[in-house]
Amino acid sequence: MSPSTCSHTLQTAQKPICSHDVKTIVATARRDGHALYPISKGHNWGYGSRSAVGQDNSIVDLSGMNSIRNADAISLDHPVAVIEPGVTQGQLHAFLCERCPALTFNVTGAGNETSLIGCALDRGVGYFGPRREDLFGLEIVTGTGEVLKTGFRRLGEDSPLAHLHPDGLGPILDGLFFQGNFGIVTSACLRLRPRRPREVAVSLSLHEREDLGELINRLARLKRDGLLTSVTHIGNRARNHSTLTYGIARYLETACGQSPAQALAESEKVLNLIAPNEWASLAAVTGNHGQVRAALREIRQRIGKLARVRVVTDRLLDVGFLVAHALRFLPFARANAAAIDAMRPLHRLALGTPTDLPIQNLMWQYGHPNLNVKEFDSSHCGVLFISPALPLNGAMVMDVAANMERIAEEHGHRLYTTLNIETATSLVAVTNLLFDRSEAEQTDRAYRCADALLTYIHECGLSPYRARVDMMDKIVSPDDPYWQTVRKLKQVFDPDNIIAPGRYNLL
Ligand SMILES: Cc1cc2nc3c(=O)[nH]c(=O)nc-3n(C[C@H](O)[C@H](O)[C@H](O)COP(=O)(O)OP(=O)(O)OC[C@H]3O[C@@H](n4cnc5c(N)ncnc54)[C@H](O)[C@@H]3O)c2cc1C
Repeated sequence: MSPSTCSHTLQTAQKPICSHDVKTIVATARRDGHALYPISKGHNWGYGSRSAVGQDNSIVDLSGMNSIRNADAISLDHPVAVIEPGVTQGQLHAFLCERCPALTFNVTGAGNETSLIGCALDRGVGYFGPRREDLFGLEIVTGTGEVLKTGFRRLGEDSPLAHLHPDGLGPILDGLFFQGNFGIVTSACLRLRPRRPREVAVSLSLHEREDLGELINRLARLKRDGLLTSVTHIGNRARNHSTLTYGIARYLETACGQSPAQALAESEKVLNLIAPNEWASLAAVTGNHGQVRAALREIRQRIGKLARVRVVTDRLLDVGFLVAHALRFLPFARANAAAIDAMRPLHRLALGTPTDLPIQNLMWQYGHPNLNVKEFDSSHCGVLFISPALPLNGAMVMDVAANMERIAEEHGHRLYTTLNIETATSLVAVTNLLFDRSEAEQTDRAYRCADALLTYIHECGLSPYRARVDMMDKIVSPDDPYWQTVRKLKQVFDPDNIIAPGRYNLL
């Protein structure tokens, strides 16, 4: 089976272990006129995994470049990690737990094995905000083979400013390398975040689905007022149930001795008990004790009538689990123990601890024999993301979400949607289709559905915020002055068009 949700065949991989190797690879590619496709870990699941946009690209697999270059310098007073592309979420999390537990970073729901640099370069979204905002001071081997350092890293690694002043002096070039194909990033500075004295997760369960627009408008005001600092993730029922089912069934099987069939049947009941509504959200509220108390008071006042507001701490979950688990011979207690066991990793995710659970859940749903996330690309689970950016306007979000749902239903699909409120004025509707990749009919239908959804998004005057490799030709246009300018920049940084041809650029 192909290594991704897209259709290109497996390309050969080169595995550099240092920036110098990358320079050599680029020089050779220029000389021989062959194209390169850089990956950090290649887990761009749902957007193309390791697949390039065009055929016959040679993969530059940077996963072996995985050092935290300034490991000894990182502290609460120096909250910046200089990382290489192969550094994963799991690796950085383990490093910080051991060496500097007072710091954390902006985690995503894509599990321990995914990279920080690759995800940020494709403008991924974490629980604390867009990953683009975390990365600066890039070191890049451009398509000309030159090494470019942005910000004040250009002053040299020994400069006191090198890793601490994100913008440097003069035009800020960093933006060109996010969703760009001008070079291969070989290291970058990553902003770390101090842990706050009080960190809680807040979950909201919307009583009436018709109130989604109003909920979004109220959350938007909370965001603009500075009371919600993290990204609020509002998931639809399909998404929330899908993410929780595996954890619930696992508990029922392992802790209650149920058969897989019994556990599956009972997990349906548990889900209807704990997540009965169409829309439910999760966000982190962090600060000092007074700040968190004030924010929670405002959230309850402004949202309390629309949604059930629950404030969740690790301690609350731990105590609740202990009690429910002890009484698991009672159906209600068992349901709660199973629910808490499934939700615990997701609440921790909102507060900065990566988890493989969302990926394992998909592998489990598609009957993969083991749940090693490194094997996700060889599982039968097909994922296609079609994720529009939207203004933070409740009525419009509801309208677009309903029409996308209708289009999916016309193709025999349900949509898995998370509305991520990531800025004070916009959100991204991270939306995916799931299908069995071993079934040709299902695969074709999923791609047709994804195309129809993209056409609809364009008809609304909107755009995806991030593109799958197989849809690049549908998002760039030779008639658009914007993309013409991006292509001209390619002449400057990569005149032979050897780096990821066609990725967020005209071919
Ligand atoms: C269940 C599920 C949950 C997910 N949750 C999230 C989420 O919460 N947030 C999110 O953002 N994504 C999410 N994803 C999508 C995706 O899996 C992640 O974004 C993942 O981090 C991307 O893989 P990677 O880090 O290995 O990047 P890669 O696959 O290595 O790279 C991503 C892109 O950047 C380019 N690139 C990578 N490294 C370099 C480099 N050094 N120089 C130049 N270009 C480079 C690659 O060519 C590729 O196009 C999810 C996917 C699934 C299936």
